[in-house]
Amino acid sequence: MPFTLIAGPCSAESREQTLSTAEQLLPLTRLQIAQEPLRFIFRAGLWKPRTHPESFSGVGTEGLPWLEEVRERYGFEVSTEVASAEHLESCISSGIHYLWLGARTTANPFLVQRIADYLKSLSTSKKDELTLIVKNPINADIDIWVGAVERLLQSGIEHIWLVHRGFSSATPTQLMRNQPLWSLPIEMHRRFPTLPLLSDPSHLTGDATKVPVVAQQAVSMGFNGLMIEAHCCPKSALSDAQQQLTPQQLIELMNNLRLPKPASADAQLEQYRQSINEVDEQIWELIVQRMDIVKHIGEYKREKGLSVFQHDRYEHILKSRLDWAADHNLSADLVKKIVEAIHEEALRKQL
Ligand code: PEP
Ligand code: MN
Repeated sequence: MPFTLIAGPCSAESREQTLSTAEQLLPLTRLQIAQEPLRFIFRAGLWKPRTHPESFSGVGTEGLPWLEEVRERYGFEVSTEVASAEHLESCISSGIHYLWLGARTTANPFLVQRIADYLKSLSTSKKDELTLIVKNPINADIDIWVGAVERLLQSGIEHIWLVHRGFSSATPTQLMRNQPLWSLPIEMHRRFPTLPLLSDPSHLTGDATKVPVVAQQAVSMGFNGLMIEAHCCPKSALSDAQQQLTPQQLIELMNNLRLPKPASADAQLEQYRQSINEVDEQIWELIVQRMDIVKHIGEYKREKGLSVFQHDRYEHILKSRLDWAADHNLSADLVKKIVEAIHEEALRKQL
């Protein structure tokens, strides 16, 4: 599919704000990305799943004619978030064909099943007009994401896109609003290699100043498109004010975007990969050796009636490995993950 940008305000707030944002995004339709015209779809949420009941929760069906007007005036395809059969019905009767399931909806199999049941009841030609865009669930559970896609596929919908918007965490980092956990969208792509995968750096970062860098990272990783929030006046936005770009900033971001070239035969790259293969082989070899020692230690501890887990020893391992990591400029995060994974496997073997 051509490189795709879904952009517009988090929420449609008024007719003026919706139309003004759309008008200012018009130059995007003339943009060429990798020698192809950009495919642009305007977004605006009508029904907003907000954390607190007193927050602005969207204008609902009142905004449907505004999106119709955007489509007619500027020739944009338009999209909005749906969380129920009623939302879908309203959108379909307004000719809105790009519909996304938000992170809080994907996480709920009851809601997704009701949406799928409604879609199933549509005629084949109606189904074919629709594109269902499935954001990752709010929690880092790939099977819930897979299950949502399976429900939609079972309803006979063929056009399904995926959006990675990051995952909520009990321990948020300073860096981003949500955790990227890039291995999850990569795994999702492995499970559904034919479904386009887009990145939503707005919800991922929660911060307009970080959106351009993360958008470029996603594109460099091979994502097929982006979903980005842009508002004619971000400061006064009624939802997600901190993460919305001005239309001008979005146009600049898109102009600066560098798409990777398609993979082709490259002798130097092959040589680097061969070296990596050799190092990996040594790593696995050493892990096998380490696990072998663990087996012996396990038997020894059992014989002597010693505890399998020894707090002081684990503290020592963690601290010394983190010190080595710091000496070699390796990220503490990576080293901690490796130590934890190896230690967990060692415990499992001993138990
Ligand atoms: C949105 O796109 O405005 C939205 C609510 O996103 P998410 O479901 O990713 O939080
Ligand atoms: Mn939003």
